[in-house]
Amino acid sequence: MNRARLLIFGAVIAATAILAVLGYVSLRQWQASAELLFREQARDMATMAAEKVEMAILKTEEECLSSLQVILMDPVFRAESLDAWSRKNPLFDRVSLMDRQGRVLYPPGAPDAYPGLLLEIPQGLWERGGRRHLLVGDQVVLAAVIPGPSGAPVLAAMGRSEEAVKREVLAKTLGGLEGQSVLAVLDRADNQVYASRPVDRARLVLTVAFGEALPTWRVALYQPAGVSPVSGVRRQAMLFTAAFALLLVVIALGLGATYRVVRRESEMARLKSDFVANVSHDLKTPLSLIRMFGETLELGRVPDEATRREYYAVITRESERLTRLIDNVLDFSRIEGGRQRYDIAPHPVEPLVHDVMEAFRYPLAQRGFKVDVVVAPDLPDVPMDPAAVKQALGNLVDNAIKYSGERRRLAVAARAEGDRVAIEVADEGIGIPAAEAERIFEKFYRIGRSETQGSRGSGVGLALVKHIAEAHGGRVTVESRPGEGSRFTLYLPVVQGPLSPQGRGQGEGR
Ligand code: ADP
Repeated sequence: MNRARLLIFGAVIAATAILAVLGYVSLRQWQASAELLFREQARDMATMAAEKVEMAILKTEEECLSSLQVILMDPVFRAESLDAWSRKNPLFDRVSLMDRQGRVLYPPGAPDAYPGLLLEIPQGLWERGGRRHLLVGDQVVLAAVIPGPSGAPVLAAMGRSEEAVKREVLAKTLGGLEGQSVLAVLDRADNQVYASRPVDRARLVLTVAFGEALPTWRVALYQPAGVSPVSGVRRQAMLFTAAFALLLVVIALGLGATYRVVRRESEMARLKSDFVANVSHDLKTPLSLIRMFGETLELGRVPDEATRREYYAVITRESERLTRLIDNVLDFSRIEGGRQRYDIAPHPVEPLVHDVMEAFRYPLAQRGFKVDVVVAPDLPDVPMDPAAVKQALGNLVDNAIKYSGERRRLAVAARAEGDRVAIEVADEGIGIPAAEAERIFEKFYRIGRSETQGSRGSGVGLALVKHIAEAHGGRVTVESRPGEGSRFTLYLPVVQGPLSPQGRGQGEGR
């Protein structure tokens, strides 16, 4: 049984631990994949922005070149037409035309604006025509070989204006990209040349290089503080962790509670089986005495009248004891089933105490008890169910006899204490350890020593006393010192206050 219980608890703990580890691992994975996904999306977005900018630049360059071509197709080359063209195409802030031999055709009379550029132009380009981007100093120069006014190819070298790129291209192409992230363009020195929104405290996620059209610049993607999807996932993960921790606490508390319940249940089961054994034993003793004395009398083997009377007295006494035992068990079962009811009406205390003492006169005398009974005069009548209070008092006296050892003194007293009457039963017996003083009022509870003291009992006597006291709106207390004796006091209120539900009913069952 114990091993099975341990196994179950072990299994629950192991399952919880596995769950905790799995939860932790999947949380980490979730976080990692969210981060990865976010970076991929960021890269896609930055790449897309870079391509868009590059295409816009290429398209503008294409248009500029086409219009330049038209001007150069005029067989009479006029520098003014090119001046006008320059003003209309602000993308380039410096334009120079030269022939294959390096003679500058435009601006007329000016020196070579891009010395050395000619060397960079391969033969093939002169022959087939075409264009490429070259870096001259910090400037990107578009070098295009196109047919000149005389039909011979000329080299158009056009320095791109950064200002125009910012104004005409970046603002127009990147301005429309909405989203939580901030897109920016950085130049070769990592200076920000453009940003879709102020970057402030945003975190740099990644940068993507442009292509050939903007060789030294990069697109940068920033994530504003607090809005990153990763921090969202982190928040969710924290929430999940907190919920999981709560779950673990609940499981632990549940385990603890279940363990306590199971332990209590098994203790209760043990106490119940002890109870059955003890009650059977308790019933057997008076029954066998009654039987033995009855049979002896029946066989007419008792010659003298005095002995016969003594035997009759034993039979009566033992049957009274039997009745008390059975009453205890039956009342206990009624209490357990919630069916116990008390008939409460004002009743004098003195006759009740004397009735109980009378019932115990013989066993007390037989065991040589010195008995003191003091009932204060003029005690007020107490609202009570007399049969129940007699039973409670009887149980206290019975215990005093059972647990008295060698010093056989019993003191019973009744007195008024404020608006209560206290009925006291004191012995000088074995006493009760302080740690057990509360527990002896629990059902089935017996101090381990009871067995070794040779007295058996059902373990429900004091539980009944407590129930009866509380049903009358009163209580029962015990003061005791092991080896010196015990004093049980039953307090019953004189003025009927609010009663516990059991006290209110009328006459059922008794
Ligand atoms: P039981 O049938 O065992 O007497 P009770 O409920 O009447 O059951 O008492 C519970 C336990 O309290 C007893 O087993 C005994 O150990 C202890 N007890 C009760 N009354 C006394 C007493 N007067 N002196 C010492 N121990 C007592």
